[in-house]
Parts: sequence; C-alpha cells; structure tokens
Amino acid sequence: MMKRSNGSDRPLEKLARRLQRAEAASDIAAPDLGLSTALSLRERVIESSANAMVISRAQGSGFVIEHVNPAFERITGYSAAEIVGKNCRFLQGGDHDQPALDEIRAALREQRPGNAILRNYRKDGSLFWNHLFVAPVFDQAGTATHFVASQYDITHSKVLESQLLYQATHDELTGLPNRSLLQDRLQHALAQAARSGERIWLAFLGLEGLKGISDNLGHAAADEVLKIVSARMAGVLRASDTIARWSGDEFTILMPGQGADTGPVAALERLLGAVSSPVSLGGQEYVVRSSMGVASYPEDGAEPALLLKCADIAARHAKADGRHHFRFHTPDMNARALARLRTEADLRQAIRRDEFVLHYQPQIDLSSGQVVGAEALVRWMAPGRGLVGPVEFIAIAEECGLIEEIGNWVLRTACRQSVAWRRSGLPPVRMAVNLSARQFVHKDLAGMIGAVLADSGLAGPDLELELTEGVVMRDVEHGISVLRELKALGVQIAIDDFGTGYSSLSYLKRFPIDVLKIDRSFVIDIGQGNGDDEAIVASIIALSHSLKLRVIAEGVETAAQLAYLGSQHCDEVQGYYFSRPLPAQAFEAFLRERTPARQGAG
Ligand code: C2E
Ligand code: CA
Ligand code: CA
Repeated sequence: MMKRSNGSDRPLEKLARRLQRAEAASDIAAPDLGLSTALSLRERVIESSANAMVISRAQGSGFVIEHVNPAFERITGYSAAEIVGKNCRFLQGGDHDQPALDEIRAALREQRPGNAILRNYRKDGSLFWNHLFVAPVFDQAGTATHFVASQYDITHSKVLESQLLYQATHDELTGLPNRSLLQDRLQHALAQAARSGERIWLAFLGLEGLKGISDNLGHAAADEVLKIVSARMAGVLRASDTIARWSGDEFTILMPGQGADTGPVAALERLLGAVSSPVSLGGQEYVVRSSMGVASYPEDGAEPALLLKCADIAARHAKADGRHHFRFHTPDMNARALARLRTEADLRQAIRRDEFVLHYQPQIDLSSGQVVGAEALVRWMAPGRGLVGPVEFIAIAEECGLIEEIGNWVLRTACRQSVAWRRSGLPPVRMAVNLSARQFVHKDLAGMIGAVLADSGLAGPDLELELTEGVVMRDVEHGISVLRELKALGVQIAIDDFGTGYSSLSYLKRFPIDVLKIDRSFVIDIGQGNGDDEAIVASIIALSHSLKLRVIAEGVETAAQLAYLGSQHCDEVQGYYFSRPLPAQAFEAFLRERTPARQGAG
C-alpha cells in the first residue's frame, strides 16, 4: 500500500467547506446528523471507496487534479503527490484516439454528467479498462467549480468478455474459427467483393477415414488426427483465407480474391496434400482423405446461404466419385480446373519423357547487321496437342513447382547447344535464357548456373540471363545480392520486358545489369502515328546508354520500326522482321547464311 502524502488533503477540505456552504443554503443536510459529522462521513465514503475517485478543478485551464483517493493510487500505481496539480490525461498513455473519449470531452465542455469505457494505463504501462463517470459540482451561483470522477476498473470483465467472444467464435478442439465466425466473414467478404468486383471461392471439405480411426483407436486418437490435419490445412492457406470447422469432420474454407486467373486450384491441391500426408499415431501411420466441393462468387450466387449450399452439393458429388479430390459447382469451372490439372499431370510426364524443345530467335546487331545472340525459347511437343507455346504452360509450371526442373533443362540444353555450335565452327553468338521468378528465389541459383557452365564448357560472358523487372525488384536488397553472385560467374544480365513493370530508375542504377530489353508493346506502335510510344522507346535507348547498358528492342516486325530504332542508335534488335524463333537446325542455317565471309571456317 502506498503512503499518503499529507498536502493533498487540503483541497478536499476546501471542497468540503464549499459543499458545507452549499448545503447550509439549500438545506439538504441529513436532518439527524450534525454538519461536520455528515461531512466527515462523506469524506470517509470517498476515502474508503473501492473505486478510484478524482476531484479536479473545473475552472482555469486543463482540469487540474486537486485530490485522488487511495483506491486511485492502488489501481493506477501513481501516488497522489505525483499527480496532484496535473491533468488526468496521462492515464491514456499514448492511446489518445479512443472514440469513447469524445463523450467525456463533451461532458466536460458542456458541464454535465457523462460516462465512457476507456483504455487507461497504469504507472508501469500495463493496460486497465476504466469505466469512467464524470459529474460537475456547482457552487451557489451555478458555476461549475469542480468535476468529480469515479473510475471502475473493469479489466477483469473485459478479459472475460474477450475470452467469451473467442469461445463463441472458435472451435474448442482445433482452435479454428467456427461456423458463426465463418458466416460472418463470408458476409463481409461478399459485401467487399460486390464493391471491388473480386472473386470469392468457398470450399466445403469432408474428411474421410476418421471413423475407422475412432473405431479402432478410440475417440481421443481421432481427435488428435483431427487436430493435426486442421493445423496442416490452416498452414497451407494465406492469411486472408479462413478455414472453419463446420461440424464433426466437415470444414469450410473461404478464399477471397484467390488466383485471379488461375483460380484456386493450386490452393485446393495444397489442401488435399495437407489432408493426405500420413499422420503417425502410436508408432502407426494413418492416412485420411477428403472430398471437396467448391462454389464461387459471382458465378454461383451472391448470398452466403446459396454459396454454402452450392459448395455442399459439389462436395457430395466429389464424395460420390469416391476419390480424394475436389469438384466445382459450376460445370464450366470444373472443365477448366480439369484442363488445368490435366496440363499439370501432363507436364510432370513431359519432364520424364523429354518432350520439351528449344527454339532460338536471332538477335541482330544494328550497326553491323550480324547475328550476335540467340534467345532460347521453350516449346512443348505434347502428344496429341502439337507444339504448345510457353504462354500456355509456364505459369502452371511455376504454380505447381515444376518450373525449376524445366528451367534447369532449358539452361543445360541451351548452354550445350551453344558450345556445340561453336565447336562446329559457327560464328560464336551469345546465348540468352529466360529465368522465372521461382528460379530467381531458389537458394542456390548461382551454384546451379555455375555447375551448368562448368558441365557444358560455356564461358560465363557467353551466357545472358533474362529477368523481368518485377522479379529482381520484388526484394531489392536480395535482388542485388543474387545478381552480384551471378555477375561473379561472369554471366550477363538482361532486364526483360523493360518498361512494363514499375522499375524505379533510382534502383536501376544500383543493379549490376548489362542489358535492357525494350518490351514489344512499345515497339509495335512505332510508325503508327503514336508519338508517345516512339518517345518512350527513344528515352529507354537514351537511358540505357547513359547508364552504359546495351539495349535490345524486341518484337521488331517492320522496316519502319527497324529504321526508327536505327535512327535512335538502338544496339540490337530481335523480331519476326528478321526471323521467328527457329528450331536448332534452322537457326544454324540462318546463322551460316548471315555470315557468308566466315562460313565453314574452323
Ligand atoms: P519473352 O521472353 O518476352 O519472349 C519473347 C516472345 O516474343 C516469344 O514468345 C517470341 O516468340 C515472341 N516474339 C519474338 N519476336 C516477335 C515479333 O516480332 N512479334 C511477335 N508478335 N512476337 C514475337 P514465346 O516463345 O511464345 O514466349 C513467350 C514467353 O514465355 C516469353 O516471353 C518468356 O517470358 C516465356 N518463356 C519462353 N521460354 C521460356 C523459358 O525457357 N523459361 C521461362 N521461365 N520462360 C520462358
Ligand atoms: Ca525473354
Ligand atoms: Ca520479353
């Protein structure tokens, strides 16, 4: 208990005297008690109250504290001596933006009683919830001279309230959100999607195999599996998704704005994987399976109940198929998801069966007209589908983690091809290879590329790696450090599709790069009377040269484009005007034809 300071009693006496006068005048003193007895009784009430009480001045500036009772000292940790003469605001800590404070401020301003629940802070910085009541004290003339504030520490009930709220919105066993929280969030997400136009996916997932575990090992074991699988599922979702335990072995997953063009398939596959990887229990391994139904906003409806129903119906269909998989409610989406899954399965097979080929597009030096480089572009010879372009499979390969394998194959093949051409006496040309985002963040990209160079015998400077702005800028510091490692191998770095991302020019200077590739979309409009694109092309060329970078224009299709690029001193061009990407043999012939003087020279 804190020691009381003597000085602070005096204001109370003063106030008491004022009250005394007021009461004498208005004759409200209790009839049976003498005045001084009545006053000392009231003082005792204040002093012994379990609630904190503060008396502050209403006149002058800042509601200066005149008196606090022992309960105030106990609750807040401040002694009277420390705070008498100050304004009560210090109790708010730095937490001044509480809407509830408005009511208190209004009551003080209008000199009327008021109350509010506030977050206050003790001397040691800890939070307490304060239900604060303020009331003015008037003198005979009707002027407010003081405010009396009583404070109720309701921290305990606030904590209880939030525990109750948590219990009311979460499942006890798994700790996941429950049905009512999911419905709440679904409603919210739908309202937001109606404004933003984004997609919402809602999946209904039933676990299968729990009953068997429960029958064999008991309820507790089944609960344990349920807990493990729940945590795994929650772990493969994004922070903005919600997975709720709907009932026994049913879950509902809300995925707002998931994968704008590829849909939620990748997330659904991760969920299936989370469910079906074995759970070990008492030295035994158990496998649980699931069937999932998926509905989407706006295709299947805009009402929470309707979406839930659609997801449920689709889940029943999925279950009836008797497989560990998912189904969409909308047939069209089912077809798309199926095609996407088929591509994924086919891609896995394509790697094993060696179905990829590289085509090479010549890069021409504008001043000499010579072929100085080749960009390797991957194609897939899919059985029954013909030659499939990278646009149709690179994004899917990225998503399902196959891009690294494909990318490594591309790099190895391109480097070997380059060395083979050199050995066969063709004029040496630089080999450009595209790297995907996923490859760029791979832990040991430089190690992998170094190994490929060593294996193939290609020298570092003869390899050019093409990266888009977005990929290197995503994490600037990390980007710079990876590029430095790559530069240490001697390879050249090109920024692909330059001008389409939002590269910051100030960063560009810091990146150890060698080449900018002007995106095709700017080149296309040259000579079409669109002065803007011509100006952009001209300034990218000027920028490159001032940063001592080489500059290549992509997608050159016409003589007019070529002439303009020449007039701006663009270093190199690439495009259908000279050649489409060619199979290795055709590229070889192109190269021979273009370099007549040295043809066949060893
Ligand atoms: P990109 O790196 O911008 O490649 C240039 C694309 O433009 C190629 O399409 C090429 O065929 C096309 N092109 C070249 N000249 C012209 C022209 O004059 N007019 C028109 N209309 N198009 C032209 P492609 O081969 O379909 O490749 C598309 C994209 O796929 C590439 O864009 C690249 O981002 C990606 N890609 C291709 N191969 C690989 C690879 O091995 N790895 C990775 N990660 N991505 C690749
Ligand atoms: Ca490229
Ligand atoms: Ca490009």
